[in-house]
Amino acid sequence: MATAPAETPFRSNQYPIPDKMKAWVLGGPEELSLVEKPVPEPGSAEVLVRVDAIAVCATDIEIIRHGVPAMIDGGLPFNRGFTPGHEYMGTIVKLGPTVDEFQVGDRVTVEVHAGCGRCQRCREGMYTSCLNYGYRAKGHRANGFSTDGGFAEYAVNSINTLAHIPDEMTDAEATLIVTAGTAMYGLNVMGGVIASEGVVVIGPGPIGLMGVGVAKALGAQPVILTGTRDKRLEMGNRLGADAMINVSREDPVEAVQRLTGGKGVQYVLECSGAPNALNEAARMVNRGGRICLAAFPAEPVPVDLAYLVRNNIYVFGIRGEGKSATHRAAALMAQKRFDAKLIHTHTFPFAEVPTAIRYARERIEDAIKVVVQIRGN
Ligand SMILES: [Zn+2]
Ligand SMILES: [Zn+2]
Repeated sequence: MATAPAETPFRSNQYPIPDKMKAWVLGGPEELSLVEKPVPEPGSAEVLVRVDAIAVCATDIEIIRHGVPAMIDGGLPFNRGFTPGHEYMGTIVKLGPTVDEFQVGDRVTVEVHAGCGRCQRCREGMYTSCLNYGYRAKGHRANGFSTDGGFAEYAVNSINTLAHIPDEMTDAEATLIVTAGTAMYGLNVMGGVIASEGVVVIGPGPIGLMGVGVAKALGAQPVILTGTRDKRLEMGNRLGADAMINVSREDPVEAVQRLTGGKGVQYVLECSGAPNALNEAARMVNRGGRICLAAFPAEPVPVDLAYLVRNNIYVFGIRGEGKSATHRAAALMAQKRFDAKLIHTHTFPFAEVPTAIRYARERIEDAIKVVVQIRGN
């Protein structure tokens, strides 16, 4: 198979594109196989991205096992030649008709959702909540969810999903931008006025840890991180958290009240999905405070609604990145305002995608972000 030679000069037009590419596809549940597929053709307002690296997300693990939340034309994604993976970055190797916003050779990272651009939500800029979600003929794309993703040598992306990355940023770090963008969007939907405000982040998973970095970069004070694993709380400290609370040793509500002199905080970013997290978050914010749910429990849970109403507490929910928050996160990372690389723990080669996914699943305790390097940089 023809591929670009290693010495291909950066930003040249010399990217020979083969007809076929290698791609991992989902058979039945837990069945990934490496197949040959035609290299896709970018349409209007699209580019062909040579995928250079991709991070494994907990949602990928979910999709490979259960299918959902990926849906292809309204059905489960099994045995449909579907390529999962949504946290990738790469190099633009071909422009679709009319594209002049990017050039061949540009290094980019991608966000997941390209809305249809024609529904009410998309017109409001809420393309993550597109009313034509999954309706490919109407132009909606969510690579790795409803259209082919990045566990492949090439992917087609709408230009709306691309963010430039600086030459000095590594491939692995660039795969983390969409995760930071999700945390950024959570802070944005709560109002976005962050400097000097207290922020609690519940749950030091990848989004929570990036939430700490983004909140601190935006000037929040204090930033408090709660969780159960000391190793991850320590990582939060290195990303800028002013205080860490291990909830297996200390009541998190009492600790937040103590740390804030009984005032509570203005914002909580809930990234744990713990059944009682919303009730606890409500008691961490002050009256009129705001909570954004970026994770959810597996089962329905009881919520103290009266407490939320009496205290005029606002609750938001997000389903991923949105409103170009990925671009803002990319800007913060390009300015080295926090070190996202801290959460990247292991790298695997392209041939070992199933191993990488198994590793991410089995070593979830310490393997925070596993990256697959598809092409050398
Ligand atoms: Zn993800
Ligand atoms: Zn739409």
